[in-house]
Amino acid sequence: MAVQVLRVVLGDQLTPGLSALADLDPRQDAVLMAETMGECTYAPHHRKKVVLVLSAMRHFAETLRAQGVQVRYVRLDDPANTQSLAGEVRRAMAELRPCRVVATEPGEYRVLSDMRAWCDGIEILPDSRFVCSIADFRHWASQRNGLRMEFFYRDMRRRTGLLMTPSGEPEGGRWNFDAENRKRLPANLPIPDRVRFSPDSTTQEVMDLVRARVTGGFADVDGFDFPVTETQARAALADFIAHRLPGFGDWQDAMKTGRPFLFHAVISPAMNIGLLDPLETCQLVEAAWREGRVNLNAAEGFIRQIVGWREFVRGIYWLKMPEYGALNALGAERPLPGFFWHGRTDMACIAAAVEQTRRDAYAHHIQRLMVMGNFALLAGLHPDEVDEWYLAVYADAYQWVEMPNTRGMALFADGGIVGSKPYAASGAYIDRMSDYCRGCAFDVKQATGPTACPFNFLYWDFIARHAARFASNVRMAMPLRNLERMDPVRRDTIRTQAAAFLKALQ
Ligand code: FAD
Ligand code: SF4
Repeated sequence: MAVQVLRVVLGDQLTPGLSALADLDPRQDAVLMAETMGECTYAPHHRKKVVLVLSAMRHFAETLRAQGVQVRYVRLDDPANTQSLAGEVRRAMAELRPCRVVATEPGEYRVLSDMRAWCDGIEILPDSRFVCSIADFRHWASQRNGLRMEFFYRDMRRRTGLLMTPSGEPEGGRWNFDAENRKRLPANLPIPDRVRFSPDSTTQEVMDLVRARVTGGFADVDGFDFPVTETQARAALADFIAHRLPGFGDWQDAMKTGRPFLFHAVISPAMNIGLLDPLETCQLVEAAWREGRVNLNAAEGFIRQIVGWREFVRGIYWLKMPEYGALNALGAERPLPGFFWHGRTDMACIAAAVEQTRRDAYAHHIQRLMVMGNFALLAGLHPDEVDEWYLAVYADAYQWVEMPNTRGMALFADGGIVGSKPYAASGAYIDRMSDYCRGCAFDVKQATGPTACPFNFLYWDFIARHAARFASNVRMAMPLRNLERMDPVRRDTIRTQAAAFLKALQ
């Protein structure tokens, strides 16, 4: 039967208000959703990420069907499946002979290039699920010399009215309460657990499928408990707002052995596939503050992550791709060490971050930035390999959000587009913000010698290696001054120890 409009919905577009579904006429249109091996394996994804996307797709398709929508759903194990999105669009076109094919712009540059070639005349609509459209971000960027998140964020606060007074001032008299959000975790602080969702029969079926078919992926599917429907995602958000948001601000940067989630929301896996609306999420958080349920530093800190960082990195991605994906400003060439994948290392902070990533497909921001990212930066790991790792291991990873965070924020490979200075830190930072060092084979107080913390000598070696490049960066003045003051013999010892460590890294 011929249909009027073929509407393609991708695995991270599971939103009823998606632009590709606007004006859908259930009597004449069809929705195409396809599970393809191409998408399951273009990176060695965590298998829990694959389960999340496929299970959420199946649930979304069922919701559409319950509304009377004709859904052409192609399963991964369907013998007729061509295993590529392009192949499935063309197969659907041959069988359904639509007058129009409509899609929403994808989250990855690679898919956009592919999508444009799916068929002649394909209509690619803007993704309206963001506060700032790609066109608006381009316009914002064109008005500025330097692109700084903080100024973008203020504009987003003005635009959305989030945490603004009726006279247009930021609530609390300040835009940013970050200075209050770096507290150490008290030893006996109770930490509420996050809500978990037992797999239903649909998810169990997908887990079996992924176990059997997606063999090259990272880690395993056992213990999968992410939300896979909008209802579940909303319940997870409500649970966060009620129980963990009050502590989110104060302990946002803290890390603790055996407590991977702490006061974080753990909503990015659901939000990035469309199960939660970012603006509505921020409005619910704002309401919690206005009702006196949380402090302003918690609400502001959280809202900044979403209408600030999340929107900003997306804007940067689409502004700078495809060139951005090849940037390597610091000339980092070293291959990724095996322990990024298996976690077997004496560095307790890295072992903890990798172990929980293998188990949960999750690490919170500071583990991503100041443990794994910091190590990759200091050790000079190649951005392509680091990018691939970040894209694979986390359940929330899509290139539009992963790449500017990795190549830009963590690795400074973009030369300062995302951040004004590299997030390089010695072991002292990790010691201040976590309890990892207490159980580590290395001594965080030592910068040289057999038990010295690798983050210490790698940090000074990194500063020395790039001293000329950072000389004009005022934000790097202090470490450069400290390096200059360092005894030359100690500098040499650090350089030799760093070189030996890096040589032995594989
Ligand atoms: P919370 O800490 O509770 O924060 C709330 C929400 O804010 C998150 O759900 C997320 O939507 C948003 N957010 C916070 N920080 C950022 C940020 N820097 N960029 C974009 N959104 C942000 N986030 C992803 O969604 N996908 C990725 O692939 C990803 N890769 C990252 C790679 C590196 C190297 C770094 C440093 C950060 C990366 N982030 C990524 C950002 C951030 O670490 C995660 O969004 C966050 O840890 C998700 O957990 P949460 O939901 O508990 O977040
Ligand atoms: Fe990490 Fe160094 Fe602390 Fe060990 S001592 S946990 S390597 S920061």
